[in-house]
Amino acid sequence: MAYLSLKEINKIYPNGFHAVHDFNLDIEKGEFIVLVGPSGCGKSTTLRMIAGLENISKGEFYIDGKLANEKSPRDRGIAMVFQSYALYPHMSVYDNLAFGLSLQGIDDEIIDERVQNIARILGLTDYLDRKPRQLSGGQRQRVAVGRAIIRKVGVFLMDEPLSNLDAKQRVTMRSEITDIHRKVGATTVYVTHDQTEAMTMADRIVVMKGGYVQQVGTPYELYFNPVNMFVAGFIGEPPMNFISSPVTDGKMTVGNKDIELSGVLSEEVIKAYEGKELVLGFRPESILLGERENALSFEAEVQLTELLGDNTNVYVTLGNDSPILKVDPHDTPKVDSTVTFSIPLESAYFFDKETELVIRKTN
Ligand code: ATP
Repeated sequence: MAYLSLKEINKIYPNGFHAVHDFNLDIEKGEFIVLVGPSGCGKSTTLRMIAGLENISKGEFYIDGKLANEKSPRDRGIAMVFQSYALYPHMSVYDNLAFGLSLQGIDDEIIDERVQNIARILGLTDYLDRKPRQLSGGQRQRVAVGRAIIRKVGVFLMDEPLSNLDAKQRVTMRSEITDIHRKVGATTVYVTHDQTEAMTMADRIVVMKGGYVQQVGTPYELYFNPVNMFVAGFIGEPPMNFISSPVTDGKMTVGNKDIELSGVLSEEVIKAYEGKELVLGFRPESILLGERENALSFEAEVQLTELLGDNTNVYVTLGNDSPILKVDPHDTPKVDSTVTFSIPLESAYFFDKETELVIRKTN
């Protein structure tokens, strides 16, 4: 059995609000799992049920094969880092790290060994005598992480731990946390609304929306094989472009162009969608400029360009839609010009407009 196992977990708050529906997930020992989704999707609630800070309304939660629904938080072998990592302001970094262990009555010598070791892993050795106010945001965050991992627990839970840091610190801490995870090896469940954090840190990502799990998979699987429009639009930056059109005589109309679906989708699918709406999805970064073989080619009007350094985002008008194209900065088209671009067939996604489910998986 997996190390942590969530079976049909539901949360219904006392006011009757059903925040999490039938959440299923098996987490292997040492895995780094990221729960991601927009505000209010139920990710913190799920994390808090794992921690034992919220009771589970329905379903079963197992730790190492043992039912843990009724286990108190302190008996679960879990450490948690929250968004607001309240360090003790009057204590030094050393004492902040050592405090939890002293409370457990552990020998000073052993505490010292562990504090020095954690400080080494986290790059805090030179700051052990400082008070929290004498540290940068990133250093404080590292102390908070250190306070959790020093307890040598099997499971590490983090709820938006980087949200108080500026953009640069977040990038640094992202790789630091991944590095710490590699060194310490604790099973980790990490909550964020930031898809970049999810993509860069996770072994597997759980995408949630409105209390329901949408998809569970590796970053690669979610990026290349999203099961629905929500996941396709949530993972990737800028998000996937969606253009919808009814299917008439086996064709979709995009801008002023008819796309012959024969050879792109199976004949059964084309027949099934005749008279119904299909959505064409493509990632800004998957387009190629100009007309190409084995691709869907379009002409669009350039509205705006944003040079970002390594690429340019080109905002275009295509019929009633306004997709974004990512191009090499040297190929940046002029505003108000017409640009021809192609979507390689293997990078074109199709979705059912009504159910929002993917129709044909590519790659
Ligand atoms: P955020 O990123 O904003 O923290 P989240 O995905 O972590 O969002 P949760 O905090 O899990 O979302 O909340 C899920 C839903 O449950 C929200 O709609 C929230 O308003 C609701 N909720 C949270 N706590 C309670 C509560 N004690 N009573 C009733 N509803 C609650």
